[in-house]
Amino acid sequence: MNNKEKIANLIFPNVNETISDLENRYPKRNLDNDAIVTRFAPSPTGFLHTGSLFASLVSQRFAKQTNGVFFLRLEDTDQKREIEGSGQMVVKQLESFSVIPDESFITGGNYGPYVQSERKGIYHIVIKEMIENDLAYPCFCTHDELNEIRKYQEENKLLPGYYKEFAKCRKLTDEEVIHKIENGESYVIRFKSNGDPEKRVDLFDAIRGHIQFPENIQDIVIMKSDKLPTYHFAHAVDDHFMRTTHITRGEEWMSSVPIHLELFDALGFEKPIYCHLPVIMKLDDGKRRKLSKRKDAEASVEYFLERGYPIEGFLEYLMTLANSNFEEWRIQNPDEDIFNFKLSFEKMSLDGALFDVEKIKSISKVRLAHMSAKEFTQNALNYAKKYDKKLEEIIEFDYDYFMSIINIERDQPKPRKDYEKYSDVLPIIGFMYDDLYSELINEGVTFNERFEKELLISILEEYKLKNGLTLNQEEWFGNLKEMAINRGFAARGKDFKKNPDKFIGTVGDYAEILRLATCGKKNTPNFYSILTILGSQRVNERIDNTIKQLKG
Ligand code: GLU
Repeated sequence: MNNKEKIANLIFPNVNETISDLENRYPKRNLDNDAIVTRFAPSPTGFLHTGSLFASLVSQRFAKQTNGVFFLRLEDTDQKREIEGSGQMVVKQLESFSVIPDESFITGGNYGPYVQSERKGIYHIVIKEMIENDLAYPCFCTHDELNEIRKYQEENKLLPGYYKEFAKCRKLTDEEVIHKIENGESYVIRFKSNGDPEKRVDLFDAIRGHIQFPENIQDIVIMKSDKLPTYHFAHAVDDHFMRTTHITRGEEWMSSVPIHLELFDALGFEKPIYCHLPVIMKLDDGKRRKLSKRKDAEASVEYFLERGYPIEGFLEYLMTLANSNFEEWRIQNPDEDIFNFKLSFEKMSLDGALFDVEKIKSISKVRLAHMSAKEFTQNALNYAKKYDKKLEEIIEFDYDYFMSIINIERDQPKPRKDYEKYSDVLPIIGFMYDDLYSELINEGVTFNERFEKELLISILEEYKLKNGLTLNQEEWFGNLKEMAINRGFAARGKDFKKNPDKFIGTVGDYAEILRLATCGKKNTPNFYSILTILGSQRVNERIDNTIKQLKG
């Protein structure tokens, strides 16, 4: 046994497998040549960030488009930052957006474990072999020693870090190393870089093209003192053995690529294709900045979920962020499944996608308007079950009745865009339920003060639906107009404007009186449909109720 093997054995006495065993354990995936394997690799540190949903959606789409695989790997090696349960929560939130990984720590798969802390054994096999081959070494430097190095580098305006002449432990003899380990000194494992500061490496990024960087020269830590790997090392090992073909991740990782390329080379692993996704930006006081988890409520997808934005609208919005030609395609294919649009790396924006809540709202309105009443009702119920008890109660009280309200002016070539999100439903149509109507009426209805109480009462008395609502919409409106004209209201706003003294108001004013009495508010979806759904008995009860109130 040579000295390097001795050191490796002292550090990992129970590791018997080799990199080649791992190659056999995780064979190349049996997929078509152009199939893309992507992953989403969240750290369990909190809610799903809007930017992460974007990244995972894009990753999933590329895999699906090519009959590839999209998997989820939980990166929990920074155990100090971990928030208990947040890994499960992120998966749940992804599921609500139908971004469901083919393999994960929940569903399993042949390339697991899918949680990094459970992959310790794999990292140790690789590190042991790296030590044996003089590609890695233990470093015993204390915090104080590292601080001293940093201070010296700062004072002398030198590149900070642990490299070349500053890599003290690289110079220890094997005997010294063995002695320190046997003495129980604490250590981390560092990668032995052979980078040359004068040389450059070429990165091909599928989104950004060719980029050159100076070679890495740092002896980065690959295993911490808690025996868990660092991000850089775990990325190389995991994405190699999990057979990821395309690394779709945030652009903040781009500057680390030289480290990753050197690691892949040293380990003899085939390099993946990097695809550094644009960071989602926000306009703040006219300036662009990163959408921040700390400053912006909308940086968490939960913000949109709890307000009831339709999933379909949010996903469609993210597709507009992903590819600049998506919107044009959407105009030509307004009702097609958005996932029939083929995403491409080349059309990805490079300089940060600008997050635009107004656009999410307008897309959501269109999506909600284009849903069938059945779909809308089911989605609203799913939303309500989680976030809105009252809405849930109302839908479940009479599912079909709710659906008929939602169906107002829906089944037509240009459906009305009444709702932006499910939480809009109650404020807009709550009055269709007698208890919520009573609440509105009890707050008091404000009629236009131009009209005397007596006139209002007499109009309402006259309007009561004596024989039910048998007319079609056109006849009904004709009839309403006639009654209004007979009372001295002008048929058209124009006529009233010209001759305000001749009329007491317009047909619009007349209809508003009826609407206020039956709905408790001025703005409602189509009034005729409302009357039909309420039915004449309830309409008349509501009118009587209002008359009673007017009489005080
Ligand atoms: N765990 C890393 C992060 O959350 C993942 C980066 C990557 O996708 O490789 O930033």
